[in-house]
Amino acid sequence: MKEQISLLVKLQGIETEAGSIQSILNDTQSKLEALDAGLMEYERTIEEQESIIDKLKKQYRDYESDLRINLDKEKKTQVKLRSVKTNREYQSLLKQIEEEKAKNSKIEDKMIECLDLMDETEKIIAMKKDEYLKLSDSVKNEKEIIKQESKQGRITLSKLDEDREKVTCMIDPELMKKYLMIKKQNSGGLAVVPVKNALCHGCNMNLPPQLYNELFLGDSLKFCPNCQRIIYLKNS
Ligand SMILES: [Zn+2]
Repeated sequence: MKEQISLLVKLQGIETEAGSIQSILNDTQSKLEALDAGLMEYERTIEEQESIIDKLKKQYRDYESDLRINLDKEKKTQVKLRSVKTNREYQSLLKQIEEEKAKNSKIEDKMIECLDLMDETEKIIAMKKDEYLKLSDSVKNEKEIIKQESKQGRITLSKLDEDREKVTCMIDPELMKKYLMIKKQNSGGLAVVPVKNALCHGCNMNLPPQLYNELFLGDSLKFCPNCQRIIYLKNS
């Protein structure tokens, strides 16, 4: 029985290790996706800023054409000014020229504003592109590490699967059935637990002295009366 129990402990160890490797492998895809998502976030920001630049450029061209039209108007008014007959007409044209000049100066202010905004946006884009390059470098490295780890994990896992097969073959089928049942009852957790100083390490309860003494004999299968797990003496 002692040997059978130690095989169960070995099996349980193999399954626990395989389980933790499997859960790392299960996370691999989502880890890779999270890294890509971080990069895509940057790409989106850069695209947004680039579309702002495009809008500003169009706006600037519109201002330019407005300015051209207005300057033309102003020039024509200036020409008219030279051929006026009355003072009233002269005053009215002067006023018109003033208005046109004010309008042009407003357009010019807006053009400068537009150029400043373009400048700022270009700076943001350059900064984001720089950050993006650094990030994509580190993402590339991290991805490589994750891929290597999962490759190693799969190798270890297949080795553990072989070990599991070997150990399972040596365990009495009835005992195996019990083991699997207890494991299931504990949601895949431990089914075989050590007892140390009369304490069950599955549930931390003290065993009755009689049962504890019987454990020393090691000639039959014992269960913790509290958590129902298979128990064995640690270092026995
Ligand atoms: Zn217990």
